[in-house]
Amino acid sequence: MNNSSVCSVNRDVSASNNINSVASAWNVAVVGGGIGGLVVAYWLAKAGARVTVYEASDQTGGLGTFFQYRSVYLERFYHCMLPSDQHLLRVLDELGLINEVYWKETSFGFMQNGKLYGLNTPFELLKFGPLSLVDRIRVGLTGLWGRICSPNGLDNVTCVEWLSRLSGRRAFETFWKPMLQAKFGDRYHKVPALWFWTRFNREKGGKRECKGYIHGGYRRIIETLVKAIEQHGGTVRLKAPVEKLDLVENGQLAVFETHEKYQLYDRVVVTAPISFLHKSIANTQLAKAATLIDGEIDMQGVINAVFMLRRGFTKHYWVAAIDEEILFQGIVESTTLLDKTDTAGAHMIYVMNYVHRTDSLFLQKDEEILQTYTDGLKRLFPDFKDEDVIDRFVFRAPYVEPLYTTGYLQRKPPTILLSGKLYLATTAQVYPEVTSWNGTIGLARKIVDEMLS
Ligand SMILES: Cc1cc2nc3c(=O)[nH]c(=O)nc-3n(C[C@H](O)[C@H](O)[C@H](O)COP(=O)(O)OP(=O)(O)OC[C@H]3O[C@@H](n4cnc5c(N)ncnc54)[C@H](O)[C@@H]3O)c2cc1C
Repeated sequence: MNNSSVCSVNRDVSASNNINSVASAWNVAVVGGGIGGLVVAYWLAKAGARVTVYEASDQTGGLGTFFQYRSVYLERFYHCMLPSDQHLLRVLDELGLINEVYWKETSFGFMQNGKLYGLNTPFELLKFGPLSLVDRIRVGLTGLWGRICSPNGLDNVTCVEWLSRLSGRRAFETFWKPMLQAKFGDRYHKVPALWFWTRFNREKGGKRECKGYIHGGYRRIIETLVKAIEQHGGTVRLKAPVEKLDLVENGQLAVFETHEKYQLYDRVVVTAPISFLHKSIANTQLAKAATLIDGEIDMQGVINAVFMLRRGFTKHYWVAAIDEEILFQGIVESTTLLDKTDTAGAHMIYVMNYVHRTDSLFLQKDEEILQTYTDGLKRLFPDFKDEDVIDRFVFRAPYVEPLYTTGYLQRKPPTILLSGKLYLATTAQVYPEVTSWNGTIGLARKIVDEMLS
């Protein structure tokens, strides 16, 4: 066990999962084989239900899915866990994987005009050149206030209003705004302060920043879950996109893979991105019967490039890169956390750009993206050379998290769409929790409890 390392983690993972077997007569379909779908399927199968997971792609894991690099499997999109991820840690305990998680102290850097600043201690903040001394103090006080203030009402105030009030307009423009823009592009001004509050408290809640990873990568969690589902009699089907959901024959629920081919189920849990729900039940009997969501919820996408390198460039896990000349907003230097055995001996960085799926950048060719990002890295780190790169890859995800607007708590889709039949557990419902494996598993817990109660 490697939990020894730098951070000590209080793992309250022993709470019982309180699963009973009222589900033993049910035939359940789960749409989507990301972490949400797999955990729902696992708990329902464990409770005795006959479960079938429909996954559209050729891999389970959704946004946490992986690719092979030499002898190891790496996440397409950077993933790590935090000591406060109690829902996730509990599942890892249940699966017998908890002792495979290792923890390290990590740090955050802010890069502007070619200069890298560590921003992890009050002392580092006091030395932070891009802000005046008064603004540095105000940003520090904003951080302190963010940790102790109540989140009540923050869903109805924008980050722009809240952070500008606390830190001042200048500090907002220089410091907070670029980071909000990095995540939400030109929709940053609509994001509620509650989003910032929960994120800030998740990342900076402890005394020191500490992150965790699992030996063998997230693939290990995904594959262990799939095996556990199968051991409890469930089925996980790949390349099985669901096209439509409807009510047929005496009000029974039907899952359509094509126009004609369907299977009947007692209950269906949708965990695919929310846009699937709108498409799949449009003009059906189900649309008339179910509680529907008011209006569509738009989602942000992301382009991630993975660079396998001969050497590292910073000591920080996450570096916000603020520079109008470069087309990405941040770097995750994974090997500040991951053991080299998990990256086949190479240094690994992720370069990310959060953009909408309709943005021309999202549609660029892989080679163009890789070249632009390599040029950007050379601009940030003048000693970065082509020879430093062993390999590079590009991955895109069109649906990462909602483009939140104020009052989102009121608009958040319900978990029960048709009592006793149709349930919804998607990333659009995790808010105000941070969109993460932990948040998704917390939502899965809620849905399964509702179904079994
Ligand atoms: C760049 C990036 C970095 C991240 N970093 C972290 C991190 O460090 N830590 C962390 O905990 N989380 C992180 N996350 C968030 C985390 O990955 C997600 O919150 C989580 O994976 C969401 O899981 P999900 O099952 O709800 O949805 P998804 O992972 O989106 O899974 C939905 C599944 O539904 C399938 N599907 C879609 N349509 C259909 C259909 N018609 N029929 C059948 N199946 C369908 C999809 O193929 C997919 O597999 C990150 C995400 C990204 C993109």
